[in-house]
Amino acid sequence: MSTTKSKKTPNLDSVTTVNDDGSHYILHPADVSGKFTRARQIFAFFLLVVYVALPWIQINGAPAVFLDIQTRQFHLFGITLAPQDLWVMFFSITGLGFSLFLITALLGRVWCGWACPYTIFLEHIYRRIERIIDGDGANRRKLDNSPWGFNKATRRIVKHSLFLLVSALLAHVFLSYFVSLRRLYQFMEEGPMAHAFAFGAILFLTGCLYVCFARFREQFCIMVCPYGRLQSAMTDDNTMIIGYDVNRGEPRGKVKQAGGDCIDCRRCVNVCPTGIDIRDGLQLECIGCAACIDACDEIMVKIDRPKGLVRYDSYNGLNGKQRKILRPRIFVYAGLGCIGLTALVFTTFFKARPYTVSSSRMMGAPFYVDDSSVRNNYQLRLLNKRNQPATFNIQLDQPPAGYSISGTDQTFTIEAHGEVSRPAILTVPKKSYRGPTELVVLIKADPGNVKIKHKIRFAGPNPNSFK
Ligand code: SF4
Ligand code: SF4
Repeated sequence: MSTTKSKKTPNLDSVTTVNDDGSHYILHPADVSGKFTRARQIFAFFLLVVYVALPWIQINGAPAVFLDIQTRQFHLFGITLAPQDLWVMFFSITGLGFSLFLITALLGRVWCGWACPYTIFLEHIYRRIERIIDGDGANRRKLDNSPWGFNKATRRIVKHSLFLLVSALLAHVFLSYFVSLRRLYQFMEEGPMAHAFAFGAILFLTGCLYVCFARFREQFCIMVCPYGRLQSAMTDDNTMIIGYDVNRGEPRGKVKQAGGDCIDCRRCVNVCPTGIDIRDGLQLECIGCAACIDACDEIMVKIDRPKGLVRYDSYNGLNGKQRKILRPRIFVYAGLGCIGLTALVFTTFFKARPYTVSSSRMMGAPFYVDDSSVRNNYQLRLLNKRNQPATFNIQLDQPPAGYSISGTDQTFTIEAHGEVSRPAILTVPKKSYRGPTELVVLIKADPGNVKIKHKIRFAGPNPNSFK
């Protein structure tokens, strides 16, 4: 259940967006303009363009970002990773993770306010649509509290239809990262019955996006997002936050009264998308959107006082102390981030191979013994990660006397980004067999004249059992 009836006053003992009975208190943040709002809008537009454009951009014959679940290949800006390369993910997660820690320790919740997809979608798409249809914060509140009639019903139908449409579009873009635009278009042409799973995924995603952005909204940041909870452990008194200068602002009062610069106009509270009063100090709900800075600066200009009563600063800076940028945690996060990112770049460019090979034993016994030989049956899986066909030749590398491989002996071609499985039958005459051993399969691939050595365990009985 959701309510908006009367305007709530934020306090430090409860979450503004949750009513005493547990229902959702709907916020209607007032419109704001200013340099940070404009910069955020431009940056959000840029990120949205990137999000929509990435599946369209082709690099090395594949979309710039394509997590191809069907063939289990990940295409990232021209580099193709197979499941065997997933160890690279370890470095990407640690490198990017610690870089984010570093940014948080330096700049606080700048990620949440400026770059988080949830904030971008909520503030720059869904709330923008709502503002166009229902008007500014005061009008939206009035409409919410008004009885149902033609005007309210029409606006609700139009707004929620647009919300559903945008959710469906975003869901389609999201799915295209996993199936590619070409296949997504093919799914759409062939209809939902031919691709029930993909259709179900789109329906599910559309539903999730609609519920999150039309109903749940800022509660996700306040109650669900784990990053928000983690951040208090990464920040300290020198981290840049958005804060209110108590020394300058208090005692608050009317413009003409002697006292601090805060005239208690509550403009910073009214624009806040999470419903808090920044003058109460840094709070978990603050997503660092900077709306309160622009709102307060606007007031300061009007009453002819310096801007920056609410501003980007550290806790120390707001209390008149020197801000220390270089501190132990910065070195630790920077060091760990650099190690991860350097390893990521190195492994991606120098170690992630253009071809990969894996093997598994065929169904049945691990080995077969007949009158004259011992045999192991393997299946080789070869993947060409290049955007051009490649030829493969498979043989044993310096095998012990008598060992041979068959089923793979002819040179064959695998198409660009293709994958084939080939039987590899390893045989040794009984008279040459000396017990289980390790063999090396040599795979020569062109272009690139790449040689891959793949170890295979040759299983067999105790050789004394032949005597
Ligand atoms: S907008 Fe500025 S002046 Fe107005 S209440 Fe907030 S801090 Fe005080
Ligand atoms: S307190 Fe200011 S920066 Fe924090 S969420 Fe509210 S408006 Fe944004």
